[in-house]
Amino acid sequence: MSRPHANGGSTDDGRASGRSSLDVRLRAARDWFAARRAENDSVAAAFSRDNLWRLRAGALVLIPVSVVHVALFAGARSGDTDVQARWRLSVAVAHAIMAVAIAALAALAHARLRRAPNAALDSAVSLAGAALALLFGCSVAVIDQWVTPSITPLVISSIGVGMIFLLRPMQAVALFGLASVGAIVALGWTQSSPVLLLTTRVNVLTAVTVGAFLSMVLWRKDRANVLLQRALRESHAELEALARTDALTGLVNRREFDRLASLELSRARRAASATAFIMVDLDLFKQINDTYGHPAGDEVLRCCARTLRESVRETDAIARLGGEEMMIVLPNTAEPAAMQLAERLRATLAASAVRWEGVTISFTASFGVAAVDAGAEATIEQVYRATDDALYAAKELGRDRVERATVAAARPSARPAA
Ligand code: GH3
Ligand code: MG
Ligand code: MG
Repeated sequence: MSRPHANGGSTDDGRASGRSSLDVRLRAARDWFAARRAENDSVAAAFSRDNLWRLRAGALVLIPVSVVHVALFAGARSGDTDVQARWRLSVAVAHAIMAVAIAALAALAHARLRRAPNAALDSAVSLAGAALALLFGCSVAVIDQWVTPSITPLVISSIGVGMIFLLRPMQAVALFGLASVGAIVALGWTQSSPVLLLTTRVNVLTAVTVGAFLSMVLWRKDRANVLLQRALRESHAELEALARTDALTGLVNRREFDRLASLELSRARRAASATAFIMVDLDLFKQINDTYGHPAGDEVLRCCARTLRESVRETDAIARLGGEEMMIVLPNTAEPAAMQLAERLRATLAASAVRWEGVTISFTASFGVAAVDAGAEATIEQVYRATDDALYAAKELGRDRVERATVAAARPSARPAA
């Protein structure tokens, strides 16, 4: 008994699910390649710069080597056959051309390194260096076929280019591919034995494949290293920022405030300018927590921090010292201006409110102001003591008010006249 309908249906389902799993795999492969390309793009400019350094340093080794070859190979030897004389001269000429070309490219690399990076130019010069080295290896290997089936120069240049230059994988494939096609064709011009020609051509394929493989492995390894270093640097910077910041309000924390305030005090001493400090403490904040809950209290803290941040200058640092206590440092500010600002902040906070789960929460804060006069010397501990005293007075006098206190600072003793 046949069941065409059921069979047909399951085959269609099978094809559809096969297609969709192929689609998924194709999309995954596309995403993988796009991600690798983006990573390659992000390191390519820096790697071209590295290649310029290597090209310039490599020239210092390669030019003397080529000069030695020219000295050893130039000039006929008695007893040379015609073929040997032609081979000797050709090797000398190839090395002479190589020495001049590598010197010119090294000069270009040097000029590029002295200027600001330019991704396209840097990459062009480094690619030219890799191409020249491969071209030279192929040429000498082809010339050598007049006297030997060895392709040592091509092996050395393939491995050298693979290990020294950082080439994008597609560039490596193109460059090594071109080198192998060029060498395989050109070997036919100088190698007359069909058997030797075959083995040399196979050796060429092996040499360029090893070179391209090395190139890709090293690119991958260096790319992974650079990306890892970048990720480490970024997470280090993030950790540093976190270590300076209070997580709830985004204000700086007490440790960072101590550092900034001490820097400001030394700067003010050198510049003979005044510095003022304002300590802010929310009034009866415990009651807010008890009445509306801790999360509502947190929202009040965030609102207070935001209001303070928006009401002072960019150059004024604000910290959450802990709990519901905040502190502001005002560079180049004397006490009267600081009192005025504190009064304005007090009024702004008293007029603001937080909406929390349908309820409006109003709050106030008390302020303690202390200033270090121009030319006076004070430590951050003396400043904390004074703002604490002023704040205590504000609380004692009924809260939602601004009080001031004097910093117990010493005036630096005048230097005796020389
Ligand atoms: P005063 O006007 O005298 O300053 O009274 P106060 O209630 O504000 O002061 P007190 O020191 O008695 O209480 C401070 C409260 O702040 C107690 C504590 O639970 C609360 N608090 C401290 N840190 C946080 C926080 O991060 N979030 C919330 N919601 N509350 C906090
Ligand atoms: Mg309080
Ligand atoms: Mg307090």
